[in-house]
Amino acid sequence: MSNKQASFYQSVQTNFEKAASKTKLPKGLIAQIGACNSVYQMRFPIKTPKGYEVIEAYRVQHSHHRLPTKGGIRFSHLVNQEEVMALASLMTFKCAIVNVPFGGAKGGVKISSRAYSPEMLEKITRRYTVELVRKNFIGPGTDVPAPDYGTGSREMAWILDTYSQLRNGELDAAACVTGKPTAQNGIQGRTEATGRGVYYSLRELLNDADEMKKIGLETGTAGKTVVIQGLGNVGSYTGMICRDEGDMKVIAISEIEGTIHDPKGIDVAKLIKYRKQKGTIIGFPGTKKLKERNDWVGIECDVLIPAALESQIRKDNAKKVNTKIIVEAANGPVTAAAEAILLKKGVIILPDMFANAGGVTVSYFEWLKNLSHIRFGRMEKRFDERSYTNLVNTVEKMTGKTISQKEKSVLTKGADEIDLVRSGLEETMIDAYHEIRNVLRRKRNVDDWRTAAFLVSLEKVASDYMTMGIFP
Ligand code: NAD
Repeated sequence: MSNKQASFYQSVQTNFEKAASKTKLPKGLIAQIGACNSVYQMRFPIKTPKGYEVIEAYRVQHSHHRLPTKGGIRFSHLVNQEEVMALASLMTFKCAIVNVPFGGAKGGVKISSRAYSPEMLEKITRRYTVELVRKNFIGPGTDVPAPDYGTGSREMAWILDTYSQLRNGELDAAACVTGKPTAQNGIQGRTEATGRGVYYSLRELLNDADEMKKIGLETGTAGKTVVIQGLGNVGSYTGMICRDEGDMKVIAISEIEGTIHDPKGIDVAKLIKYRKQKGTIIGFPGTKKLKERNDWVGIECDVLIPAALESQIRKDNAKKVNTKIIVEAANGPVTAAAEAILLKKGVIILPDMFANAGGVTVSYFEWLKNLSHIRFGRMEKRFDERSYTNLVNTVEKMTGKTISQKEKSVLTKGADEIDLVRSGLEETMIDAYHEIRNVLRRKRNVDDWRTAAFLVSLEKVASDYMTMGIFP
């Protein structure tokens, strides 16, 4: 294992211990909450055009205090056991923060998805799923994977298909995995969910007058400058939504091929199209390429959003950071050592376990949809539309005034699945923001968002263990 990954796990442990030291919970209970319950390490062979290859993979279930356990599957050549353990434990705290009734889990396959054809990726995904089924590490009531770095709805569809073949006739099979394509038992709004949740968390902070006063920023999203690392699933939706809904200026984006900068603001949707055509973000009209890819860290901006991988802001580059706010769209992008430096500089860090919890929140909605076997909004949409139309017609009749057809259709619209999903996600992120914020206000010995977020989740997980009667 490389030092980098070991420090990610260590970093999560350090943060956990810092928060735990501020509670009065029994030591044994803290130890149980911090520990990874089950670690499944596997090796399996696949036949490639070049011969046989042994694939290294993992599934870690961090906490069984609530079932099923839940967490994404990562495809990356950097995957190792400690990384998956760190990510699984973050899932436990994340679920508790957004009141999603799951324990934490995570999967990892040590491959670079870029290095394989879609056919080979399908083979690997299906074989990985077979391994999970054989050991009872997947199922609607046991453990439910989702997308993460290097995977998306396509891989989730392969997982569901493999699971269904092995568990023929299982009524709730579709709930064995989330993040599926909408046409294959998925839910509208899952793909954008993590990025949208990142935006809602940031918007709440930017609208918080007290917090903005502390860092000398005006309230509101409009005109705020943003720098993003990673233009994958999370980074791209974060960028598009910050720009389109928050009227923010995305002034720089960093990807594998380099970092581009335009102080006037980058049209993220156009950049994504450009990258699809050209295979790179470099050369996008109006932007300048920075000398070093890693220089994104030091660009002056209001909000820095790492949305790629862990351990990107470390002790060695934390001093370069020139922002007021960091939103951890990725998991673990700021190491514990870097955080200590940044907090001294007065930077607000919205932690991963809150900021990127939109994905698991909408995964929860998808799981509920699969278990109920009905699309959200199907029962009430037309009924609501008819009621609103009657109301508008009555007001028109009573006042003798009429409104345009366009105005009428806005007022009488019933909710579609996407409207309900976005509404549920927004409500969840706002609620969680204020829960964490209250801890920051209430506890005199807590002055950073990560510790406050940990305390919110520790309290809930501890209370579950106590209800189970394991701890007094
Ligand atoms: P993704 O694979 O879709 O995108 C990641 C992007 O980061 C890729 O485009 C990759 O090229 C880029 N990247 C990798 N290394 C980089 C580097 N050194 N510099 C610049 N760019 C780099 O992955 P994703 O699903 O967007 O996940 C990103 C992060 O968000 C991960 O930490 C993941 O755990 C976290 N996350 C994802 C979800 C989700 O729903 N997908 C949910 C919660 C958290």
